[in-house]
Amino acid sequence: MEVAPSPRKQGPGLKSWRPQVRSGIAIAFTRASPTSSVYPRELGAYKLMRRLFEAGLVCSVLVACCCAQTPALQVLPWNGRRAAVSLTFDDADSVQLDRVVPLLNRHHLRGTFFVTVSKLTRLDEWRKAQRQGHEIGNHSVSHEHSATLTRVSEEIQVEDAKRFLDSNFKSDVCIFAYPYEESSPGLAFWVRRYDFAARGWRGGGELLYVRPDAEPDWYSLPSQPSYTRYDATVYKGWIDKAISLGAWTTFQMHGIDDPATGWEPVPATTFASVLDYLTTQERQGLWVAPFGVVAAYFRAQRIVQQAEPHSVDGCKQLAWDLPHPFPVGVVLKVRVRQGTRLFQRARELHPDRHGIYSVSFDARELVIRGGL
Ligand SMILES: [Zn+2]
Repeated sequence: MEVAPSPRKQGPGLKSWRPQVRSGIAIAFTRASPTSSVYPRELGAYKLMRRLFEAGLVCSVLVACCCAQTPALQVLPWNGRRAAVSLTFDDADSVQLDRVVPLLNRHHLRGTFFVTVSKLTRLDEWRKAQRQGHEIGNHSVSHEHSATLTRVSEEIQVEDAKRFLDSNFKSDVCIFAYPYEESSPGLAFWVRRYDFAARGWRGGGELLYVRPDAEPDWYSLPSQPSYTRYDATVYKGWIDKAISLGAWTTFQMHGIDDPATGWEPVPATTFASVLDYLTTQERQGLWVAPFGVVAAYFRAQRIVQQAEPHSVDGCKQLAWDLPHPFPVGVVLKVRVRQGTRLFQRARELHPDRHGIYSVSFDARELVIRGGL
């Protein structure tokens, strides 16, 4: 028996598989037609009825497909890519300037460096890394165990480190990584005040892979620590799993090669092999981006998805508030149903050649005309 081709094999777009539905139904009716056993006049009437029935059925199937396939507005997760991976490096270990940053640059990848302020030397070189697109995050003033902190020192560990980083990196550093992955109510209070996302929890199993429909604790996002004993296949497995789940996972790394360079150093050959693999996967749709960049996109995506549409002058309007603090300039990738027009700040948005719109999260509103 002939079966209509699978839509997946024809490509992801609705356009590419509509004709498959039509031909599949046409094939089914051709086979069922009993043309050899009817008289000519009846045959004409039969053919007419059959065509009307076919046309009606094809239309209803297409309408059903349209409704099922294309919601009026869809915010695409992970910047429109299949999955996301963030590489984070802790403690401002010097080896990160000497070997990690050059290797990342060679692979055109960008990482996040959660720096401990008391260990921060070679400031000019860190600033250069930042200018090259790497992200600087807050890893406290002096990397203490949370249980040893007083109410006063909890604030100092977060706030003083932030003020130092803001002034020395001329930016608003508003991501945090808890030293030893240890939090406390007092520490978390200050992190919430000064940051929009924090890497905290080591997690477990599939929870290490944050799915696009998840409602995570933005102040305790999970990460996977690297260990010296892991070979490249372990990290490739993490990347493959993120891709298969359409999820985001974060690597947590420290030293390279020599134990003197940082906690649980990753062999240099393993690290280079992981970067090669990431580059290959990036070409196939993986988003490799700094922790704060992915977290900001994801948090903005969830806010817009949860905004309730209101009717305004015959249009629908989505409005939302920005978290505070939050990075400026987050742009969401959006797809809409055919016939829908989008406006922000009274100006119409236009899609790129793939039909994807760029929606400013800073605009705090989106007007949708038609399609709903
Ligand atoms: Zn640390």
